[in-house]
Amino acid sequence: MPNSIGFIGLGIMGQPMALNLLKAGHKLAVYNRTGSKAEPLKQAGAQVASTPAAAAKDADFVIIIVTDSAAVEEVVLGRDGILGTVASGAIVIDSSTISPVVSRKMACHVTGQGASWLDAAVTGSKHGAEKGELTFMVGGDRGVFERALPILQVLGKKHIYCGPNGMGLSAKLAQNAIQATMLEIFCEGLVLAAKAGVAPQTMLEILQSSLARAGLTDFKAPFIFKGDFTPYFPLKLMHKDLELAMEAGFAHNVPLPTLAAVKEVYSAAKAQGKGDLDYAAVITFLEELAGVKVRTA
Ligand code: NAP
Repeated sequence: MPNSIGFIGLGIMGQPMALNLLKAGHKLAVYNRTGSKAEPLKQAGAQVASTPAAAAKDADFVIIIVTDSAAVEEVVLGRDGILGTVASGAIVIDSSTISPVVSRKMACHVTGQGASWLDAAVTGSKHGAEKGELTFMVGGDRGVFERALPILQVLGKKHIYCGPNGMGLSAKLAQNAIQATMLEIFCEGLVLAAKAGVAPQTMLEILQSSLARAGLTDFKAPFIFKGDFTPYFPLKLMHKDLELAMEAGFAHNVPLPTLAAVKEVYSAAKAQGKGDLDYAAVITFLEELAGVKVRTA
């Protein structure tokens, strides 16, 4: 059954997600801070809202996917935030990767208006968003999760209920801690092999024939070998997630010694001005330290 959906945030992830909801026959009111990014959605049949509040008005579902905790606070609690208009009984689905603490605070505000809040972090990046094959990690009331499933199923192929509010994000931060570390050590190994004279393709073939093989590195290697760092997931956002994972470590009294070091490698790449590139550009910082490039062309 078509639903009325307010969609807030049309960046790398939000654009294709919103398009998939339109293609599935839902009625969308979209908002993006930079208005020009709403144009392709308008052409595909969405109504364009001038504020988050206008996008949320009369919607059965409100989906948010913006940069960070501050952005979510702004679109929810700000002067033109959804809190002023969200309907009693509506479900707000936040797919931004933000602090679980801030997310729980948003859940309290929205619940106070008679609506419900799910943290519904995603993995699968731009290509997963385009194909409607994201994996969702969801925190909130289980009944609300089940009511939101028909919408989430348009956007993703796997939906994992993690527990009460904030738990989807707790899972997401652990997942990105693992993913960032895997890619960083893959890059360190490639740089070491290249400096010693082993060809990048040879090194990849060896890894793909070993237990170190991973979907992540299979996907990223061709881009690294071409030096193509067009952002699927911008490095500055991965850095944000590593900061959030360290905060979670502090909150839960969990030492994260490897992550602390890995985070600083991403910090260095970001400080060099590489924040808007894909996070695989972390290799360029390591290449510069070692004085070698891992390229096949
Ligand atoms: P993005 O392309 O940089 O888009 C960010 C969006 O947030 C843009 O629409 C931006 O609006 C909006 N925004 C930022 N600050 C705002 C504010 N104060 N008020 C209103 N809107 C604001 O990022 P993305 O890759 O789509 O990522 C979005 C979220 O998904 C992030 O939390 C990220 O960590 C998470 N995520 C990303 C991926 C991925 O692979 N890309 C995967 C999983 C999860 P403007 O257009 O005006 O800047």
